[in-house]
Amino acid sequence: MNSRNLHVIIVGASISGLTLAHCLSSTNVDFTLLEARSSQFTHGAGLVIQPNGARILDQLGLYDKVSRQAERMVSHTTSFDDGRLLLNIDIRHITLRRTGYPLSIISRQALLSILYDHLPRRDRVLFDKKIVRVTSSPKAVTVHTADGSQLCGDLVVGADGIHSIVRSQMWQYIRSNKDAARFFLAREMPLHVSFTGVFGISDPIEGLEQGIAYRTCGTGWSMLILVGTDAQVFCYVSIACPPSSKPHRRRQQGKASLEPMLEPFLHVHVTRQVLFREVFLHAKSCTYVPLEESFQNQWSAGRFACIGDAVHKMTPNIGQGANCAIETAASLGNHILLASNTDAPCTEESLGSMLGTWETAHKGRMRTFSWVAQSVARIEAGGNCWKRFLRSYLGYYHAAMGIALLGDITPQTARVQHLPLPPHKITAVDSRIDPQEKDWSMRFSGIPVVSTIIVALLLVVQSLTRPEPSGVI
Ligand SMILES: Cc1cc2nc3c(=O)[nH]c(=O)nc-3n(C[C@H](O)[C@H](O)[C@H](O)COP(=O)(O)OP(=O)(O)OC[C@H]3O[C@@H](n4cnc5c(N)ncnc54)[C@H](O)[C@@H]3O)c2cc1C
Repeated sequence: MNSRNLHVIIVGASISGLTLAHCLSSTNVDFTLLEARSSQFTHGAGLVIQPNGARILDQLGLYDKVSRQAERMVSHTTSFDDGRLLLNIDIRHITLRRTGYPLSIISRQALLSILYDHLPRRDRVLFDKKIVRVTSSPKAVTVHTADGSQLCGDLVVGADGIHSIVRSQMWQYIRSNKDAARFFLAREMPLHVSFTGVFGISDPIEGLEQGIAYRTCGTGWSMLILVGTDAQVFCYVSIACPPSSKPHRRRQQGKASLEPMLEPFLHVHVTRQVLFREVFLHAKSCTYVPLEESFQNQWSAGRFACIGDAVHKMTPNIGQGANCAIETAASLGNHILLASNTDAPCTEESLGSMLGTWETAHKGRMRTFSWVAQSVARIEAGGNCWKRFLRSYLGYYHAAMGIALLGDITPQTARVQHLPLPPHKITAVDSRIDPQEKDWSMRFSGIPVVSTIIVALLLVVQSLTRPEPSGVI
């Protein structure tokens, strides 16, 4: 085997960039990770680690660390905004039984710290390196930083989020090299903002219990409250906004400036006893963000590739943004390793062709996640009677199955090919003695029929127009 020590430049030290760095750390591939921030610390609230992300973290030796800092999710409640409970699902075993991994609630900051602190080649991560330009030649790719420095490599990977500079530079490259377009109508997809969101972290609140996800929906909005370790409360409010030609407000922080926007939600029930007002009053941090959605139809060209939010940005309603970012990073790592282990010369064409194979293999799966996230966001915030019916119907009859199937591990789920699969963690749960298991087995018995119905219903919803604005923004 020929080891050619490919040098990969990764732009962005967040979930996807650090996961890719971990995947490459145990190989002969060299990498440099450049991050615009001045330190590892960043904003964000809570994330749910689902089995598709958990298995990769486990392969990388990080899952036990994640488990120690995460709260295992025990139940998921869906309520109407007046506090009436639609459904409470005990989800302790739902994913554990099928995959060996429970759903876990962890703060975004804790996950990023684990990814960074346990990176074997931490000296390869450089902070305060904002990329402003990327140029490519047949021999190498060069990234230019805001401080005037340059770095050359074989491949540049944009793990730099929704406003990816690498993605825009890749499209500039495609425009000047028409052959690099993967199909006739390939183009950079615009970012859509149909929802804006507020992320927050609050101190413990009496009545909100650790390990529970509280979901409430209303016309033009939906709300998800996750209670993590030490009863820390992570909240996420998604608000439908009217179509507008005006650019949306930029990221904004602070309780005082967000109070007018959240005022209409203060009376909303999180549970029968707890109002959203409590969550807001206890908030330690609050951030407003436009929730862009975009699925890019081309992820790579020549010596460029993009992963994570840079190519598949979804609303957080199904909690898959971070898990999908982990998956795309691992799948790209597999293909980079294959390219570095072949005898063929490392040309722009050979790298482009390797990246084309990666895209074809992985893009369809991510398209499905993006589509489901898009549909769920619209159903949850739906205002007309059809969407309200659909919301209650799906929430009541199919929430459990949706939760189980979304993060499920299937042959298509990405994993790190050069690392062994973790030993199966399932401790057999006897359905004869656990009533929850019996209930769960019954819910699962109609998978094929029910899945078909769900897909048909979602298809109808997809064809509907924008979500009804809540009138708040
Ligand atoms: C600040 C923030 C908070 C979030 N909070 C939550 C949450 O609480 N719950 C939830 O479910 N989801 C949250 N998300 C979404 C979820 O975390 C994303 O789906 C996931 O982080 C995607 O990871 P990523 O690595 O692809 O991109 P990102 O997490 O967006 O990371 C991109 C990285 O690239 C860096 N970067 C950007 N431009 C440049 C440049 N020019 N040069 C160098 N570096 C650059 C950024 O500083 C950042 O570190 C949040 C996202 C962000 C950005």
